[in-house]
Order: sequence, then structure tokens, then C-alpha cells
Amino acid sequence: MKITGYLAIAALSLFTLQAQAQSNPAAELLRELIRVDTSNPPGNEGELAELLRPKFEALGFEVSIIETPTPGKAHFIARLRGDGSKRPLLLAAHADVVGVERDLWTQDPFAGDIVNGYVYGRGAIDFKGGLAVFAEAVMRLARDGVPLARDVIFLAEADEEGGSYGTGWLARDHWPLIDAEFALNEGGWIIKRRNSDDVRYVSISTADKFFLTLRITASGHSIHSSMPRPDNAIFALARALDKLSRHDTGIQLIPITRQFFQTLAETAGEPERTWFEDLLAGTDAARVAQADRAIGVDPLLRAFMRNTVAPVIIQGGFRTNVIPGAASVLVNFRLIPGTDVAAFIEEIRRVTADPAISVEISTGAGESQQEALARLQQRSMQQPSPEDTELYRALADSAREQYPEAQVTSYLFQAGTDASAWRNRGVPVYGIYPYPIDQDDLSRMHGNDERVSVQSLAEGTGMIYRVLLRVAGAD
Ligand SMILES: [Zn+2]
Repeated sequence: MKITGYLAIAALSLFTLQAQAQSNPAAELLRELIRVDTSNPPGNEGELAELLRPKFEALGFEVSIIETPTPGKAHFIARLRGDGSKRPLLLAAHADVVGVERDLWTQDPFAGDIVNGYVYGRGAIDFKGGLAVFAEAVMRLARDGVPLARDVIFLAEADEEGGSYGTGWLARDHWPLIDAEFALNEGGWIIKRRNSDDVRYVSISTADKFFLTLRITASGHSIHSSMPRPDNAIFALARALDKLSRHDTGIQLIPITRQFFQTLAETAGEPERTWFEDLLAGTDAARVAQADRAIGVDPLLRAFMRNTVAPVIIQGGFRTNVIPGAASVLVNFRLIPGTDVAAFIEEIRRVTADPAISVEISTGAGESQQEALARLQQRSMQQPSPEDTELYRALADSAREQYPEAQVTSYLFQAGTDASAWRNRGVPVYGIYPYPIDQDDLSRMHGNDERVSVQSLAEGTGMIYRVLLRVAGAD
């Protein structure tokens, strides 16, 4: 059967799913996934891998479970064979989640209950929902017996939210299992209009911001706290932080940002439309500053157009009757690809300039300052994944088909993902959270009462399934 035939069946099954108001296979799988607590640390991803194994094996996938040196922590890889005429397509989803403040949830974060059409639970959006959608779409290929031109690889990853055995580790030791022509991961968004089920835009991430952590240390004179001197390390550190808090790293628009803001301008009402247009024009400094202030009220958009500054851990002092000789703070910066890291660190040194202050990179274990800088410069030079690939086109076409009223745009993901393992090796990676969500849903991610709508999961599964048919189906 031709692809168009499968696309028609996919469209039909989408309607069937929508008719089942209560639930759908992706929602049911998500509920099972949420019930395996994979809060990292420790992660416990091996238990989730064992939950997935029989489902994939029954459909003829070749399953590998890669145990890491940490007991109970494992990556799950399932491969559905194609005829080998094209190189594999990989779908990756992290299996671990961040922890919860259980008291602040109104639902049990690890029960996977459906309430008012939403599946609740830690990871519902980030990223067990995506894991369920990707898994369900891939398994549907096998159930429907679709002839494939390429292998389709499904990966449920360990240690994305933290830890040492993530995709970097997996790629080093098991690259042949996850080598692909291109990959799909978390990243962009399917954003609904306010108070509406209409989708405003679909963003597909083609690059991620990257992070730099600096340790800023203040030195002073250690002495009994009854005889304070002017060279107090904690005061010096406070002054440095104060200067940093008032420093604006400035607006930087790269081609992905410009395309995304163009989309927002085209889909916004006034006054937002004018703000985006002023920012894009960049000609009138006063109007740009006003637009920046107005748009920057949204922390995501503020972060999107600049290198961000966030002090995260502060240390200093050990008892009340001693003025400590040193105090330090770790400051986390999220940088736009293309940023000259050495020049950026110099900028931070200039801003915090004080003989009592030193600024250095918070390095990885056993890494020198120079090695860390070289690694970060290399990361900054990583090119965005190109938009002229079969996978990007299939994502964009399937999104337009599903949401004809929405704009489709490339996107710079404001946080980091584990896509570097592939991008470092020249494999294009695209990112999407494959379900329509609104600002309320988005604000619950990594927060309390995280949830995703049952309907959104059905739509996302249909969309991803059509992407798979387009990219991996044999003609
Ligand atoms: Zn995530």
C-alpha cells in the first residue's frame, strides 16, 4: 500500500481516538509510565525499561537494555527493521524525571490518574508524555505492518535530568545502537491560544542554548566577628552580585530567533505584534527597549533573546563568631549558540571588577580551566540542525496538516537537552513536546500538578505517526 493509504488510515484512526473521549493508547501508556517513580536521583530507569520490553518484543522489535554502572539505571533501545535502503531514524525520550514537592500537589504525582480529561503526574509533559507518544507511534508502525525503508529506533534514556550516564555516556560506548540519519527529541512546543483549543503555533527546535557555570569567589580577611575589617568577603560577594543583578547581557537575535519572533508577530494581536516587529527591525533603540521590557515579562521569551544570568548556590561562613576569609557563588548562565565564551567570561569579570573577586569556570571532574573553556567554545560553535532534511520537512508538513490554522517555525530551546550526543557527531536533532499545551500546562512543568490532556496525547500520536510514515515508510 502507498504511503497516502497509510496516511488516510492514520487520519481515520485519529478521528476514532478523538471519539474515545476518556482515553487512548498513549494516555494509557503514560499512566503506566508515571506509576514507575523515576525521580532522578536515583532515576530507577531500569524498571521502566523492563515495563517497555515485553510491549516492544511482542511486536517484533529488537530490544537492547543497556545497564549503566549504577545498579537499576539503564537505557532502553528498541529497533524496528526496515529494508535498509535509507539510514535509521531515531526517536529519543528521557525516562527520568525531576523530584516532587509532594505536599504541594493536589493529585498523587505517581498514580497517573485522569481528572477532567488530563493525565496528572510527574513527567506528564517532561517527558513521559513524549515518551508515551513516541513509543505508541512507533509501535503502531509495527502493528499496522507498514513496510519501512529504514530502521526506526526508539530510545528511552537514563540520566537526562542529572547524573553521569546519560546519552553522552551511551554514545561513547554503544554508538552503533543509536547511530541514525537524524533524530527526534524533546524541544519545541505546540502552543494553544489563550482560553482556546486552537493551536497558535508549532515550534520545532533545531538548536538548544547551552550552559556555563562560573564560580565567583570573594576573598577577605578571616577574623573574630567582634572586630570587623573593611575587607569582608561576604560584603564583597554581595557587591559583585548586586552589580551582576543590574547588568543586562543584551539582546541577541540569531536566525532561529528571528524566524520564531516573526511567527509570533504574525500570530499576535496588538500591541504584541508591534513589539515583535520593533524588536525584529532593531532600528529604534527606544522602541526596542520598550518592546524588550514588555515582551520580557514572559521569562521564557526574555531568556530566548539573551544570555541569562542566574545565581544558584551561595557558600560562605561556618560559625557566628568568625568572619570567613572567603565566600563564593555559583552563577548559571544559559548562552545563545555562537556566543564567544571567553569574551563573555571577560564581560562578567569587567562587571564584577574588584581586587577581592575572582571568576573562574566551574569545571567538570578532573577538567582544567583551559579544557573547560575549549569544550564550551566547541559547544557554542555547534551548528543548528538544518531545515532542509526529510525529517524537518515531515514534522513541518504533519504539523500544518494537523493544525492548518497554526504557524510552524524553527525554535531555539531555552534549556538544554541531551541532543548534543548526536549533534556533536553531525546527526541533526529536532525537538518537540508532541502535544498541544497552554501557558497554564507549561507553568506546571518541573512544578506542581504537572498534567497533559488526554486529547492532546491523541493528537500528538497521530501527528508523530504521520511523520514516521513520511520519513520511514517504503515507497
Ligand atoms: Zn525534559
